[in-house]
Amino acid sequence: MIGKLIRSILITLGISALVSLASQVAGYSFWWTFLVVTVVQFGIWNLVQYILEWRTSVNMRAMEAKMLIELNRQTLEIPCIHCKTVNTVAMRFDQDNEFQCTDCDKTNSMYIDIEVAARTEIIDKPHFTLR
Ligand SMILES: [Zn+2]
Repeated sequence: MIGKLIRSILITLGISALVSLASQVAGYSFWWTFLVVTVVQFGIWNLVQYILEWRTSVNMRAMEAKMLIELNRQTLEIPCIHCKTVNTVAMRFDQDNEFQCTDCDKTNSMYIDIEVAARTEIIDKPHFTLR
């Protein structure tokens, strides 16, 4: 970490020195050019860091929203059998479902009961006759 920091500072100062030497050949002040180029490099560095952090936070928020949607698909609001406190529980089809109540700490078992029903169709008649 410290080694990386020292390396990047040395690179920054090296670039400043090279640009300053070139500007000295062109007749400008070495130290003024050195100062300006160093400050500009730190400014650019901060801008790049800001953009990277902003992009990371946008990606993180998108991922969190996605995770929340996935979590909502597989969780249930279910009351504890002992104290009736409603718990949010993840439901799985590949293992036994148990949860520990957040209020009374007792273990509950969850069973999934699946029913099958025939789908009904809407009667396709424009009107009925009354007698
Ligand atoms: Zn409970």
